Amino acid sequence: MTFSQLGLSAPLLQALASLGYQDPTPVQAQAIPAVLAGRDLMAAAQTGTGKTAGFALPLLQRLSESEEAVASNSIRALVLVPTRELAEQVMSSFRQYGEHLAVSCYAAYGGVSINPQMMRLRRGVDILVATPGRLIDLFTKNAVKLRQVQTLVLDEADRMLDLGFADDLDIVFQALPKKRQTLLFSATFSDEIRSMATTRLRAPLSIEV
Ligand code: AMP
Repeated sequence: MTFSQLGLSAPLLQALASLGYQDPTPVQAQAIPAVLAGRDLMAAAQTGTGKTAGFALPLLQRLSESEEAVASNSIRALVLVPTRELAEQVMSSFRQYGEHLAVSCYAAYGGVSINPQMMRLRRGVDILVATPGRLIDLFTKNAVKLRQVQTLVLDEADRMLDLGFADDLDIVFQALPKKRQTLLFSATFSDEIRSMATTRLRAPLSIEV
């Protein structure tokens, strides 16, 4: 299986080639075609499996294919992560893979001043990577609107619950359009994660690697 057989476009294949990625990992081989097709996904995947590229590559492709411009203070995709370190990492992966695409990506997390984040969001961002607490702060201040979100990614969902973000996640789910794509990644599938998947995902493809 090659990246090109999974349906990825030339600008993404070019970025992967310059990063030296040769073949997709198992989670990528399963996730990429499903995400490109617009399906919901729940994946049991640890760090090191290549899960980030598994959602980032098809998400970049879908966003680059639709002509829709992002409105002021709006975002087209939301990626929630448990920590600021992961937010930075995931944003830099999006920027590397999307090097040849005109898709913007920005990371917002707590522990730093909110003002520069509010200013950047004014222009709109295609992909916002955020920690749940800071996202709620930005949302409460009307700095980010969630109505234009087409895809929600929950990365390391089990860690977000462990860190006490369940209530924040509920607020986010309420504010998102009902018609959207949802991708849930978690190292483990506890009862709590399974119940979130049952209530928040629509006929998800289930992947275990
Ligand atoms: P992740 O599991 O998303 O944290 O990725 C783990 C590491 O594997 C990252 O450093 C990626 O850059 C790298 N990686 C992801 N997919 C591939 C691939 N198909 N080929 C080579 N390296 C990869």
